[in-house]
Amino acid sequence: MTAENDIRSLLPSSCIVTIPDVEAHVQAATPRWSDSGLSHPYAVATPSSEADIIAIIAYTRTNKLKIIPANGGHGSYVPVNGGTIYLDMSSFKDVVLNETEEEVTIGGGCVTSEVLNQLTPKGWYTALPNSNAVGVIGAFIGGLSHSLNGKHGLGIDVVKSIRIIPFSSTEPLDIGPNSQGQEKELFNVLCGAGHGLGIITSVTLQAFPISNLSLTDNKIWTRRLIFPAPQISAAARLYTSFWPPHPKLVSVLIFLRAPPSAPRPGAPMIMLALSYFGPAEAAEKVTAKSFDEEFTSKAIVNMTVPIEWEKANDGSAPLNAHGGFKEYFSCYCKETSLGSIERTFGAWEKFTSKDLLGRGTSYVVIGSWSTEQMVAKGGQKDEKFFVARDRGIFVQCVPWYKDIGVKADADAFGNEVIDMLREQDRARGTKDWCFVNNIREGIDVGEIYTDEQIESIRAVKGIWDEEALGWNPVVEGW
Ligand SMILES: Cc1cc2nc3c(=O)[nH]c(=O)nc-3n(C[C@H](O)[C@H](O)[C@H](O)COP(=O)(O)OP(=O)(O)OC[C@H]3O[C@@H](n4cnc5c(N)ncnc54)[C@H](O)[C@@H]3O)c2cc1C
Repeated sequence: MTAENDIRSLLPSSCIVTIPDVEAHVQAATPRWSDSGLSHPYAVATPSSEADIIAIIAYTRTNKLKIIPANGGHGSYVPVNGGTIYLDMSSFKDVVLNETEEEVTIGGGCVTSEVLNQLTPKGWYTALPNSNAVGVIGAFIGGLSHSLNGKHGLGIDVVKSIRIIPFSSTEPLDIGPNSQGQEKELFNVLCGAGHGLGIITSVTLQAFPISNLSLTDNKIWTRRLIFPAPQISAAARLYTSFWPPHPKLVSVLIFLRAPPSAPRPGAPMIMLALSYFGPAEAAEKVTAKSFDEEFTSKAIVNMTVPIEWEKANDGSAPLNAHGGFKEYFSCYCKETSLGSIERTFGAWEKFTSKDLLGRGTSYVVIGSWSTEQMVAKGGQKDEKFFVARDRGIFVQCVPWYKDIGVKADADAFGNEVIDMLREQDRARGTKDWCFVNNIREGIDVGEIYTDEQIESIRAVKGIWDEEALGWNPVVEGW
């Protein structure tokens, strides 16, 4: 019996099952952000109910396969291959706001924009990734970093409950901070190290009224300065002048090349993006330096733009394009230096200039936020699985290329960037940490979790995924 007959006849008719055409492009059946680590899965199954998910888990077990739930498809580190049932969660899109309880329940197949578009017209927000196409659950199980880390802590700090079908169970489980014993341990691990333990059908997060932020005209205050390459030093000086950022300020430095529509397509640029989640008057005080002639005279673009809440992520849309090879190089720093930032820019410029069409979309993002709330939310003994609460500088470097032959060069570039930005921390003996949501194949998991956490993840996986149907970077790896 072929795989196609087998799986289609054994799963409920309410499940849509597709067997990939191995002659077609790998993205045809599994549209994902990156081609890295991606080959044709055994089958793509789209369940329409929890009962369907339970049937698919049973099929996976009987046939000794692995099951990868997929949501936004941005996890370029997740192995998908001929032994994988690719579980398309796109039927789980419910977003239910409970204003009385100040919470929102988000379906296991929602991407950021779907939640944003439901909450904003009602005047509410919650912790959401800063990219519209990223899956909310995919981000949550790695901590969920968001624009208001400085005010509320991480997404895992505002979670009220999780509904999951663990791989070792035949029914859904509702768990939360008040769960006990093994269920509490499962809940804790799902908060930051939650890969491959089961299928999460929903997460309930705290919700907040937008009006609490006292925004001017109900809009987010944003300011953008774009500098040409020779002004990297001024751009870096301005960016670092906001350290440590005010709790309501997010400042991000981005290295990117001008789009085809620009006057000088492909020109290297440095963008400083400032977002303040409060009244415009306060924003202008906090970011006063960005109005100084010393900096504005060096920028080719210098503008203050209030933006509607639901458009908060529109600026990062080009980074969501599917296809090509992209891998994450990430780190959290306590400190870094102006010199390191300038040299990082030089490395990015050199890497991209070798073949503008083939790798010119590669980018580097250096973001910063206040760590006060993140540290406070961790408490005396942090039970959750996020190690970098006291690190206010985050780096995401993404080499993005069309030809797999570039990989060695791309890896050298990514590692060089991370090594340069970590120089200051390493000189002071500060431990290397990176972001689990931004890992890549083969990374040392000692950069994501402590030894004690690794032991707990293994123990919890042994209980809730006894037969190793799921994939977790610590346990299954690559
Ligand atoms: C441009 C860009 C911006 C980003 N911004 C942010 C950000 O602001 N904050 C942040 O925290 N991260 C951010 N990320 C990283 C992102 O959170 C991770 O890549 C995450 O893994 C993506 O989740 P996904 O659902 O899109 O991907 P997928 O590959 O579909 O899923 C990622 C992982 O989550 C698992 N998973 C997905 N859905 C479920 C489910 N229902 N039940 C159980 N497991 C599930 C998958 O099996 C996989 O292991 C960003 C990435 C990019 C490229």
